[in-house]
Amino acid sequence: SVPASIASALSSGARHGLLMKGGAVIEAAANVRHVALDKTGTLTHGQPAVTCLLPVPDVTEARLLATAAGVEAGSSHPLAQAILRRAAEAGIAPLPARDARALPGKGVEAVLGESRVWVASPRHAAALGGLHDEAAAVALEAKGMTVVAVLDERQPLGLIAMRDEPRPDAAEAMRQLTAMGVTPLMLTGDNPRTAQAIAGTLGIDFRAGMLPEDKLAAIREMAAKGGVMMIGDGINDAPALKQASVGVAMGSGTDVALETADAAILRNRVGDVPALIRLARVTMGNIR
Ligand code: ADP
Ligand code: MG
Repeated sequence: SVPASIASALSSGARHGLLMKGGAVIEAAANVRHVALDKTGTLTHGQPAVTCLLPVPDVTEARLLATAAGVEAGSSHPLAQAILRRAAEAGIAPLPARDARALPGKGVEAVLGESRVWVASPRHAAALGGLHDEAAAVALEAKGMTVVAVLDERQPLGLIAMRDEPRPDAAEAMRQLTAMGVTPLMLTGDNPRTAQAIAGTLGIDFRAGMLPEDKLAAIREMAAKGGVMMIGDGINDAPALKQASVGVAMGSGTDVALETADAAILRNRVGDVPALIRLARVTMGNIR
């Protein structure tokens, strides 16, 4: 019977770490034609490591790191964690910043002493008037690194480059989706050069420089062409997860992503995305 097939698919999914919030998720997942995936924390581990510190000439690496760590101290963003980890490893105490405020898709702003300070994307830093070495940022990004700029009162202190590796099962998962007639697309707030480097190794298309509202608009656009699944982990993904026919959160994702999504991949395997669609197709096929 219909309820029995769906109930058994829900429990079979749960045994494999695929948590679905109700039978309607199975029906929607069976009809998915496009899958949009966030980059950081979804297609990649989401645990970037600092690879390069590039302070401006009169600033030390220690001051660059201490300032950035101070601004990021209260942030759970993967880039913040990378900066805080590097500072801890180097024995550098974060400077005591206050009033920190996340600028989703752009960076973090805080107050340090009398100064306003930022750790932000090169694009946002340029908009604030404080990007000192765009050529260096561009070169590091083309190698697949994510670069942030550190600013003190709009004066550049330097750049910090980080590398986040794709999850080992990501390329195979993208191949499987394509073979199933489902088109994968990477959506990222990161810049086009880093995005190209990562999407290129996965063999999929991408859209970069996306703010949360751009991800939402992209999902709306894709939904016009058929069922769309969105996989994400961040606060910045929540509007898109809500809009998608099926929103799927990574188990390691933020609470906001997990609450908003229709389903969760508890084991953080991107390979579970094609598995989820296959389970749904088989279940609905049995029912029809
Ligand atoms: P993604 O879509 O890849 O998960 P986000 O939308 O979270 O990325 O962030 C997009 C860009 O905004 C980052 O690449 C970075 O430049 C900047 N950014 C966002 N949050 C932070 C932060 N806490 N610290 C530094 N930069 C940040
Ligand atoms: Mg993310």
